[in-house]
Amino acid sequence: MLELYNTVTRQQQPFKPADGKTARVYSCGPTVYDFPHIGNLRTFVLSDILCRYLAYKGWEVRHVMNITDVDDKTISGALTQGVSLSEYTQQYTEYFFDDLETLNIQRAWEYPRATDHIEQMQVLVQTLLDKGHAYEVEGNMYFDISSFPDYGKLSGIQPEELGNRDYSRLNDEYNREEAGDFVLWKAAKPGEPSWDSPWGPGRPGWHIECSVMSMEYLGPTLDIHTGAVDLIFPHHENEIAQSEAATSQQFVRFWLHGEHLIVEGEKMSKSLGNFYTLRDLLEEGYSSQAIRHQLLTAHYRQQLNFTVEGLEQSERAMQRLNTFIERLPKLPLPEGRSEEAAERIEEAQAKFEQVMDDDLNVPGALGVVFELIKQVNTLHDGGELHDQDRTVMLDFLVQADSVLGLMTEQLEAARSDSQADAEIDALVAEREQAREKRDFPRADEIRDQLAAEGIILEDTPAGTIWRRK
Ligand code: AMP
Ligand code: ZN
Repeated sequence: MLELYNTVTRQQQPFKPADGKTARVYSCGPTVYDFPHIGNLRTFVLSDILCRYLAYKGWEVRHVMNITDVDDKTISGALTQGVSLSEYTQQYTEYFFDDLETLNIQRAWEYPRATDHIEQMQVLVQTLLDKGHAYEVEGNMYFDISSFPDYGKLSGIQPEELGNRDYSRLNDEYNREEAGDFVLWKAAKPGEPSWDSPWGPGRPGWHIECSVMSMEYLGPTLDIHTGAVDLIFPHHENEIAQSEAATSQQFVRFWLHGEHLIVEGEKMSKSLGNFYTLRDLLEEGYSSQAIRHQLLTAHYRQQLNFTVEGLEQSERAMQRLNTFIERLPKLPLPEGRSEEAAERIEEAQAKFEQVMDDDLNVPGALGVVFELIKQVNTLHDGGELHDQDRTVMLDFLVQADSVLGLMTEQLEAARSDSQADAEIDALVAEREQAREKRDFPRADEIRDQLAAEGIILEDTPAGTIWRRK
């Protein structure tokens, strides 16, 4: 049974969708003001693995990831470039989708944009106002954290500590007088994009965006909400406060937080010069396959130290994997199956599920796949690999890859290779029958057709064999 570590209970707990059928998953998505960096991508790969594994377990998955296309960074980026906010965010949204594709991250069910949901955000703010959880100061709407006794349950923060903060060090995310009260709606500032509201022109705060977009698409209670650890406070704490105060229902059953990626042992930052986007790495000649592999080498609750050495190891690991997958369909193997191979593959499959069930232990799952490849190679060297074992092995890899997403292209190529082989076998058999019936025109036609595809036939006393030119 799948178990996940839940940040709010601080425990690993058995997971099932609340309705037993459909897993409702929400992930905080990108702020589209720049290219995603590899830390962001690590977190997006985590939600990808999670959703792939939920599907592997047989549940339907409804995954929603928002696009934050209005906030301080997008607004100032658009102003600097002298283009409209939507023009500015559109280009970075496209780059984000390009990166998902490059890293073989499966598409979510929906990618709602904040600017398409302003009205619903106003409705939620109004509800909080009506229920006595929000108040207005000069066109800014704030959440009154003292009205929500559960405030702090996710992050462990004590609301009293927040009240003592020095406002001069906080930005306009908080109320100047009540430093713990965070903003729901910001009054318009000159030169910034704004929307009309019952409280005057303004724009939404960041936290309200995620409460609205998650509940709009998935209902008041989500099965799983993901993000990286930096979002636990204040973002996710505030999402809980807004959502639960409005609906009086549990907002999220499981909170999953991924640890950060660091580079060569240091926090990634532009000023340290250790800041990487996917493009940077591809330009340096690394493969997207190796980059995805490297992002999977640490358990998601551990920091991942991204290094050039690690990336090179990933390149070599992927090379081994690709060579194995490319060769397997072409190996001349005896017919039938071997007990030994069947057993090894079955064990690997059970182990794969066991480690993935244990809070998504992806490094463990990678270990299982590579260990099995080694065992299969050994069996082959000892003449103990048969053609039916090959089929079972390929099926296992396809299943494992539905979760890992590391060798999808290679497996498709292998599959079409073996499909092509099966078609050739069928034509060769048809030609033999034609010859037996002395239908030489048809037999010659088949020989010519195969020759045109680069297949050479050799008629031996034991039958016809074929090989590629
Ligand atoms: P942003 O585009 O800044 O809104 O961030 C998108 C996602 O990336 C969020 O879940 C962040 O918490 C996460 N994130 C930011 N920095 C890192 C990092 N160094 N490692 C892993 N995830 C990160
Ligand atoms: Zn969010």
